Amino acid sequence: MGKITGFMEFERIEEGYKPVEERLKNYREFVIGLDDADAKKQSARCMDCGTPFCNSGCPVNNIIPDFNDLVFNQDWKNAFAVLDSTNNFPEFTGRICPAPCEAACTLNVNDDPVGIKSIEHAIIDRAWAEGWVTPKLARHKTGKKVAVVGSGPAGMAAAQQLARVGHDVTLFEKNDRIGGLLRYGIPDFKMEKSHIDRRVEQMQKEGVTFRTSVMVAALPQDTKVINWAKETVAPEQLQKEFDAVILTGGAEQSRDLPIPGRDLEGVYFAMEFLPQQNKVNAGDTYKDQLRADGKHVIVIGGGDTGSDCVGTSNRHGAESVTQFELMPQPPEEENRPMTWPYWPYKLRTSSSHEEGCEREFAISTKEFMGEKGKLTGLKTVRVEWKDGKMVEVAGSEQVLKADLVLLAMGFVSPVGSILEAFGVDRDNRGNARASTEFTGGYATNVPKVFAAGDMRRGQSLVVWAIREGRQAARSVDEFLMGFSDLPR
Ligand SMILES: Cc1cc2nc3c(=O)[nH]c(=O)nc-3n(C[C@H](O)[C@H](O)[C@H](O)COP(=O)(O)OP(=O)(O)OC[C@H]3O[C@@H](n4cnc5c(N)ncnc54)[C@H](O)[C@@H]3O)c2cc1C
Ligand code: SF4
Repeated sequence: MGKITGFMEFERIEEGYKPVEERLKNYREFVIGLDDADAKKQSARCMDCGTPFCNSGCPVNNIIPDFNDLVFNQDWKNAFAVLDSTNNFPEFTGRICPAPCEAACTLNVNDDPVGIKSIEHAIIDRAWAEGWVTPKLARHKTGKKVAVVGSGPAGMAAAQQLARVGHDVTLFEKNDRIGGLLRYGIPDFKMEKSHIDRRVEQMQKEGVTFRTSVMVAALPQDTKVINWAKETVAPEQLQKEFDAVILTGGAEQSRDLPIPGRDLEGVYFAMEFLPQQNKVNAGDTYKDQLRADGKHVIVIGGGDTGSDCVGTSNRHGAESVTQFELMPQPPEEENRPMTWPYWPYKLRTSSSHEEGCEREFAISTKEFMGEKGKLTGLKTVRVEWKDGKMVEVAGSEQVLKADLVLLAMGFVSPVGSILEAFGVDRDNRGNARASTEFTGGYATNVPKVFAAGDMRRGQSLVVWAIREGRQAARSVDEFLMGFSDLPR
């Protein structure tokens, strides 16, 4: 523990943001990380709790009190070693994790939690700058071949862990670049894609083979989700050529809003809109890019994806941006003794909201309205909740102008075709059925086929995907070798 009285002496320090006018001009990251002096103060607040709730609140179980202490003592190299021992990609989580560890921090009972995420961010950025992040080559090769299908954080973590213990890993991805939703979905202003490219380079040196634009499916192009595949590989081929297969294809089926007018030009899924901007940022040309310039944009769905549509629309130069949420407005402050150490229900205002956005709560959309096949507005009604049921408020119907509606109401399940093609059972939410038991975890009903990440747990977070990828890798290693030295 760095400083016994640190939590009484220092306030929590927030990372800085570049001014709104400046950041709206481009898609670059705008968070200003902590300098050494602030990182030292931030970590001085850690009490090194006997039971560190932060550690169990973190899905990858980062050893937070230890790296806090090392940062306090400015021993950055060992702080990186501690962080690297539990998390393959701290530069992803240090940027975009909502930080359940901070909600669980003991200081959060009656004070501001330690700014753990900002410390993680500082450690990993320092480690890359100093050249401490290097490939970890396997000491020997096992001769076993593993196919990983889907290159999001779950697939990347699984592939990296397995390559490091000497398996011959091939990562298949239907899109033209590696990264899953980190690459196509999450805007560049939240996480620049060079962070993924650096990891791909590291993983190539560790022996992972990347096969992009290759769809693993029974039929070519058998999906309605984004798909830039140029080649199709049949599941039977993978089962024949590889000793184990891990399915990490995400949960890509967006939730739709099948109300009158859904077919009008101007109503799109968020995941039709966001990846196009990622592609353009990567230097690709997009002939008919969906853009929000000069438009009245309404984003339906109050979560992270919706917030990313708000930030992207503002960067396009939208005339107005409004975000709808069906549920009532949450309280500004959580009831801490009631919710700690769990994730609290409270109003969350993202950096994208701060850039300019009207937020409407307890509102439902009844109809998309249009002229000559084009969207012109939508009909809404206010809703309230009575006895757990949603009821419309009589006389509250309203027509709002809209040129572009983006549906960001979450994801229902994985795209079915790949699971069906492998014969993998689904649970009652449509995800791949596989338990997370210590022995045999992540195995599906199909011999030598495993599943992890959003494809198994449903739409979730990057940090959960990394956890599942790491744990599935250990299970696969045990399955192949009879034992495993990989951490769980
Ligand atoms: C817009 C948006 C913003 C988000 N923001 C955040 C955030 O700020 N913080 C956070 O923690 N989480 C966020 N999330 C959630 C997070 O991105 C996901 O939980 C996480 O990426 C899931 O990882 P995954 O590896 O399981 O799957 P994914 O990242 O979905 O990757 C799956 C990959 O598999 C590929 N694939 C699928 N089927 C096939 C096939 N048959 N053949 C070959 N390839 C296939 C897909 O093309 C995709 O690249 C966000 C999600 C979205 C949509
Ligand atoms: S819970 Fe908070 S104060 Fe306690 S060890 Fe973790 S970060 Fe430090």
